[in-house]
Amino acid sequence: MMSAMRPLAIFGGTFDPIHVGHLRAAWEASEALDAEVRMVPAKIPPHRPQPVASAEQRAAMLRAALAGQDRLRLDLRELDRAGPSYTFDTLASLRAEFGEQRPLVLLIGADAFAGLCDWHRWRDLFGLAHMCVLTRPAQIPAMPEALAAEVASRKTNEVAALRVQPAGKVLDMVVSALGISATRIRALLAAGREPRWLVPDALLADSALLQPYRMNRGSGKT
Ligand code: ATP
Repeated sequence: MMSAMRPLAIFGGTFDPIHVGHLRAAWEASEALDAEVRMVPAKIPPHRPQPVASAEQRAAMLRAALAGQDRLRLDLRELDRAGPSYTFDTLASLRAEFGEQRPLVLLIGADAFAGLCDWHRWRDLFGLAHMCVLTRPAQIPAMPEALAAEVASRKTNEVAALRVQPAGKVLDMVVSALGISATRIRALLAAGREPRWLVPDALLADSALLQPYRMNRGSGKT
């Protein structure tokens, strides 16, 4: 058996904008797994409408949100790549960078995980990384049959299992249920309201950061 290594976890999303729900979930996973977490904004998300804010604007919000701590780090590799932001490519590039032994963990919301079978090369993801499925208390994720069959032999309840092999396990992790969505934050801003305490203060401290979502875009008026 190989010796245990500190996992590297990734938390992907559009982050349009980053909010406290994302940050708290990533933080709790980082502490529970004792892993460094890379926040990986998608340039062209393959499974959903295109973001309102540009890739650069979303990266600037992430940079501001992540300042002052070092558990959660910004990783811009999907922005540097042409074409759709496939998680398979992101994990393959991390695998090439960190070698065959380092445990990689894909942090993924239970809602997104339920749709995994639609992802590019989804079965191959298990060869590249573990999956840590972030669930809210009392949420029972429904899985299509193909996914349930794939997951059955990979399930573990042990955080330590993610440290002794580089990929392939599936762990459910309960994280704080914060009823916050980027969709709602965009709606608040478009209506002229302020998403205080739904987003980190750093996003409100610089009025340019949330400007892409305000109705009076470009005027600078809040
Ligand atoms: P939208 O409302 O635009 O769909 P979102 O915040 O749900 O935004 P993403 O930014 O793509 O969408 O989310 C990235 C990841 O964060 C996903 O895996 C999603 O499941 C998870 N996530 C989103 N909101 C929360 C939350 N409140 N708590 C925990 N995880 C969340």
